[in-house]
Amino acid sequence: MAQVRLEHVRKVYPDGFVAVHDASFEAGDGELLVLVGPSGCGKSTLLRMIAGLEAVDGGTIAIGDRVVNDVAPRDRDIAMVFQNYALYPHMTVAGNLAFGLKLRGMDKAAIAGRVADAAKMLGLEDMLERKPAALSGGQRQRVALGRALVRQPQVFLLDEPLSNLDARLRAAMRVEIARLHRSLGTTMVYVTHDQVEAMTLGQRIVVLDGGRIQQVDTPMALYERPANLFVATFLGSPAMNVIKGRIEAAAGVPTLLAGGGVRLPLPGLRMPEAWLGRELAVGLRPEHLLRADGAVGSAAGGTLGVGVFEAVVEVVEPVGSEVFVNLRLGDHALVARLPPGQLPRVGETLSMRVAVEALHFFDPDNDGRRL
Ligand code: ATP
Repeated sequence: MAQVRLEHVRKVYPDGFVAVHDASFEAGDGELLVLVGPSGCGKSTLLRMIAGLEAVDGGTIAIGDRVVNDVAPRDRDIAMVFQNYALYPHMTVAGNLAFGLKLRGMDKAAIAGRVADAAKMLGLEDMLERKPAALSGGQRQRVALGRALVRQPQVFLLDEPLSNLDARLRAAMRVEIARLHRSLGTTMVYVTHDQVEAMTLGQRIVVLDGGRIQQVDTPMALYERPANLFVATFLGSPAMNVIKGRIEAAAGVPTLLAGGGVRLPLPGLRMPEAWLGRELAVGLRPEHLLRADGAVGSAAGGTLGVGVFEAVVEVVEPVGSEVFVNLRLGDHALVARLPPGQLPRVGETLSMRVAVEALHFFDPDNDGRRL
């Protein structure tokens, strides 16, 4: 079994900066676990601690059944892939793939077999005699992956392996990594700041901010039930809309009152009495904002009620398969994700609707925790 388990892990850099506070999570045996968060959130520090490249200042890290806090990196049975590939420029692709195995004293025939297998798996067979300088970025990245593959480790650690590639290649390599993971069945811990990469690759995702774990769950669970405003607005593109305001009962209908004269009726909203009159943050995903006027994209509401409101079009962004419509509602800028078709005009007032059951409620006074 090669699960990776962190319990109450802490990292304090020599200057006193706490990069990781009390992190606990587990990558199950064979799981592809993604660590995601904005720059500086501590994800590389966590990965480097798992690899043994940074000391652990509190808590324990276990790989399989063994606590590895004091085990040297080379004895952890892991292989790491770095963002900058870290290939040896004077060696051929074959030499790069074989190097780590040679260092470990593996015999020639066994090395040749492993190099051939990795080259086949990654489509590098025709490039084995080339030097890295004669490879494209995507091919270099494959060699870096291959160098980890030949080791046949218990765990792969990948630190932003695709971030030096252009968008198309990144999308293609993402699929290759998913395929590779499926065929190898080896535990992988994958670090990225890219929420799309996290959502598409991760079987589960650890969301980090400011050195603290915000939530650990499957991609869809994170998307559908974010634990706080950070997770809600970090995952999803365009990001979730957030309106801060109060809910009052207006003629018996719960109504969201917000800056700039916003009055958004939320008929059928079931909420605890205690929410009435207090400050709340209300989240609406762009795909849940629909047109209410019979235009393309109008849709039936949910089983609860539907809130209808008017908003002015500020910017229209057609992206082919859909249109992002930026709307002004009082003091708030909202984005709706509408099907293509007739484009709204800038300055036009649209009648919009949102199903009450699609709303998310957060507590702005309590680190944006989900209510
Ligand atoms: P990025 O996506 O930019 O690589 P990250 O989430 O991987 O960011 P880390 O590299 O883990 O972030 O760094 C976490 C925090 O620790 C950052 O605020 C960083 O400035 C700080 N940090 C990293 N290395 C050191 C160090 N040697 N001494 C002091 N602080 C450090």
